Amino acid sequence: MTDIKCKLLIIGAGPGGYVCAIRAGQLGIDTVVIDEGKPGGTCLNVGCIPSKALIHAADEFHKIKHASDGPLGISVDAPSIDLAKTIAWKDGLVQRLNTGVAGLMKKAKARFVSGRARFLDGKTVQVKNDDDTYSIRAEHIVVATGSAPVELPFLPFGGPVLSSTEALNLTDIPKSIAVVGGGYIGLELGTVFAKLGTKVTIVEAEDRILPLYDKALTGPVAKRLDDLDVTVMAGVRAQGYENGKLKTDQGDIAAEKVLVTVGRRPRTIGIGIDELALTLDGPFIKIDKTCQTSMRGIYAIGDVTGEPMLAHRAMAQGEMVAEHIAGLSVEWDKNAIPAVCFTDPEVVTCGALPDEVEGSKTSEFPFQANGRAMTTEREDGFIRVVWRESDHAVLGIQAVGAGISEMSAAFSLAIEMGARLEDIGSTIHAHPTQSEGLQEACLRALGHALHI
Ligand code: FAD
Ligand code: NAD
Repeated sequence: MTDIKCKLLIIGAGPGGYVCAIRAGQLGIDTVVIDEGKPGGTCLNVGCIPSKALIHAADEFHKIKHASDGPLGISVDAPSIDLAKTIAWKDGLVQRLNTGVAGLMKKAKARFVSGRARFLDGKTVQVKNDDDTYSIRAEHIVVATGSAPVELPFLPFGGPVLSSTEALNLTDIPKSIAVVGGGYIGLELGTVFAKLGTKVTIVEAEDRILPLYDKALTGPVAKRLDDLDVTVMAGVRAQGYENGKLKTDQGDIAAEKVLVTVGRRPRTIGIGIDELALTLDGPFIKIDKTCQTSMRGIYAIGDVTGEPMLAHRAMAQGEMVAEHIAGLSVEWDKNAIPAVCFTDPEVVTCGALPDEVEGSKTSEFPFQANGRAMTTEREDGFIRVVWRESDHAVLGIQAVGAGISEMSAAFSLAIEMGARLEDIGSTIHAHPTQSEGLQEACLRALGHALHI
């Protein structure tokens, strides 16, 4: 048994935990980070990065494969993809970033302990790995244990029934796949397999895909899925898998694999928080504006604290908690957390959605009227601003369009800085870019759009 004492102990080295450790190190706090897996957590190892790598690879392959069908005068002969090689490339990226994250924590002088953590009491955590058992006592403890895929009792993971983790590591392209859940992961990975040549069927319990967002915003994604020959079955519930068929309440779907993406649950089980009797918010750990739990000295950040389960929210919370522990006067005061669904086209939402705030209005600009969109053969989608009639404050921005994720920073910046329609409308936006659509949506709200 090895005894360690520190000021700050962080359980989990995902985006929340590792960013908290780096910031704590910068502020001179003696910090220990524990993880039973590799640095970077879900996001780096089996989430954001691997999925975006495969989205890119599948998109490149699909573009090359269909280049001869387009108007650009390109012709290609029978391109092919070796998925095992693609996966090896993706694994290489993940490894590079694992090393990078470990290096950043080391540079910040945060000590990394590998192993599984369990609370012994509100100040002490036991960590076990194959070689040793540690007892770590800390003044402050941050729970950053993240989340895991929800398993449906009638579709247990294993064999042909995959979670996102297994789907990101397939080395052979399945002939057919049924995706249960048309949310973020189901749509991102469903599109990957469709572009690789798999026959994809998406089964969504609600009446349409990405039910969190309005129909107009998800319309271009639904249209593209249709063009990619993906079958979307909305208002349908999966019931089991037997003899190569997904059973649903509306008939059977033949599928070599089934990918279950019906949400994620917090990783709170088996870490001893039951004994601490922390107050929960549904299945998640309840936190206040400084991410403190119901027990003094224990904080929680990231997916374990609930929606939105996004890496950049976990990072921002991690940074804030380190500063709070260092004695700085900080609290959660963000106006907007951007969310990007990396479908084709991509969907971005930031701040208020239409009808969410009384007295708000909306104005949108379609990419059909945008020169840059025409030059990239992607005129599908639009940018929409939600604004307050009384003072023209921009309260929310949503967009759907190819590559639109890169504009999410402009959306967040505008909302965080309290921009008004006139501020964005009078800012010079480079031509020809998709970003002109944001300026035009604001000008349109003011009644003097230039290009529509
Ligand atoms: P996690 O990243 O889950 O990290 C928690 C860490 O804690 C893990 O490393 C785990 O090993 C460790 N841990 C847990 N329990 C213990 C214990 N008892 N002892 C020791 N260690 C423990 N978000 C985005 O913002 N953008 C995206 O594009 C995106 N894509 C995604 C794609 C997929 C396929 C998935 C699954 C998720 C995606 N997400 C995305 C969500 C994102 O991954 C999470 O929001 C983010 O990882 C949460 O960070 P976290 O630090 O809270 O937890
Ligand atoms: P999700 O909540 O986005 O989507 C789950 C979908 O499954 C919902 O549309 C729901 O109606 C449907 N569903 C639930 N039970 C069902 C059933 N029995 N049959 C059919 N459909 C059913 O969940 P997810 O896609 O698993 O993603 C989990 C979380 O991971 C997300 O909430 C998100 O925060 C995060 N994530 C983010 C990104 C990103 O930022 N680009 C990407 C992937 C994941």
